[in-house]
Amino acid sequence: MKFAIVSKGDERSNKIKATMKQYLTDFDLEYNEDDPGLVISVGGDGTFLEAFHRYVHCIDSTAFIGVHTGHLGFYADWVPDEVEKLIIEIAKTPFQIVEYPLLEVIIRGKNGGKEDRFLALNEATIKTTEGSVVFDVEIKGDHFETFRGDGLCISTPSGSTAYNKALGGGIIHPSLEAIQLTEMASINNRVFRTIGSPLILPKHHTCLLKPVVDRSFLITIDHFTQNYTHVKSIQCRVAKERVRFARFRPFPFWDRVRDSFVADDDKEF
Ligand code: NAP
Ligand code: MN
Repeated sequence: MKFAIVSKGDERSNKIKATMKQYLTDFDLEYNEDDPGLVISVGGDGTFLEAFHRYVHCIDSTAFIGVHTGHLGFYADWVPDEVEKLIIEIAKTPFQIVEYPLLEVIIRGKNGGKEDRFLALNEATIKTTEGSVVFDVEIKGDHFETFRGDGLCISTPSGSTAYNKALGGGIIHPSLEAIQLTEMASINNRVFRTIGSPLILPKHHTCLLKPVVDRSFLITIDHFTQNYTHVKSIQCRVAKERVRFARFRPFPFWDRVRDSFVADDDKEF
């Protein structure tokens, strides 16, 4: 099997990368950054997002695994002390695969031409530096509301613990094929009205955002931001593609959520 390693770039992560590369090569696995069947991310969730986007063009044939060198990660769940154990597990392939849903975003311009299509592992957000965004929000082809405010966030289930959570969105188990739309400071008064609650859309329920007021939009896809002008529409739905994780032991999603946000077992009260 071919594998590649994406490191956060700090000394500790680079050292773990070097060790894993050496040992896995000793086990007759081939290090190949062009066409890896397994991508190992060493760093944090941010590093995992980077690894995902680096290999997004071949996600059908690539599985991901994360080793975290910082605090507990949502995508990176192996700690450096376990690296040797992980190496042996990887060498014993085939491994079990767990799949999570992704978000598909299609951005279309006013003047026709090429559309941009992205897959997000966490979320897409649409903001502006020019005051408020004003969008007509369509769900499944029907007008739902006109949104005015700082922006909107559309997240995946595995991204629901990231930006979405900070916006008051719900945490969605990644076995549910859904996307979540959360508001950023919507303007609500007698003139302007939005639903106010996060919306959870199932597969095939496309959400279309059509700018009412033309702005220069800041559109984020996970960790990267791009500037768009003359946007006709931004279409969001559950992608047909899925991200594949190599799983060597169970680590239930709710345990991850508890360990990250609730339990602090080291603390004494
Ligand atoms: P960052 O500013 O380092 O990320 C912010 C934090 O989100 C980091 O602690 C990161 O973990 C964590 N994170 C990333 N994905 C997560 C997930 N699925 N569940 C729980 N926590 C998660 O930037 P970054 O590392 O490049 O990550 C980009 C992400 O930052 C975006 O996709 C967005 O979700 C998030 N973000 C959050 C806010 C907010 O909460 N107000 C604002 C902007 C962006 P690591 O430290 O392990 O990287
Ligand atoms: Mn980060």
